[in-house]
Amino acid sequence: MTFIARQEVFICEHCGASVDLLINGSYRNHCPKCLYSKHVDEAGPGDRKSLCLGLMKPIRIDQHAKKGWMIVHQCLLCQKEMRNRTAPDDEIVGFMQRESERIAKGIPPA
Ligand SMILES: [Zn+2]
Ligand SMILES: [Zn+2]
Repeated sequence: MTFIARQEVFICEHCGASVDLLINGSYRNHCPKCLYSKHVDEAGPGDRKSLCLGLMKPIRIDQHAKKGWMIVHQCLLCQKEMRNRTAPDDEIVGFMQRESERIAKGIPPA
């Protein structure tokens, strides 16, 4: 099996940022700015077996004992939830601020 390393870039379908898919040699599947992802994986991160391709919304941040901060994504099309590792340049703080403002104002999740 040959592994071909390629630099992939995608345009975030939610906020329009251009996102490098490879960071520090590991694969990323979500936008560092708005943390939205796309439903491309079915059983686990990186398998790309899903045919859904729905936009996945970050619904909360969890802390995992071994893996650190995890983003929990929910697919807007099929409602599937997936956990993803965060990347060093993810704007987690911005997400948490937006979430806490939303909760403080009593606005339901969009
Ligand atoms: Zn984005
Ligand atoms: Zn889906």
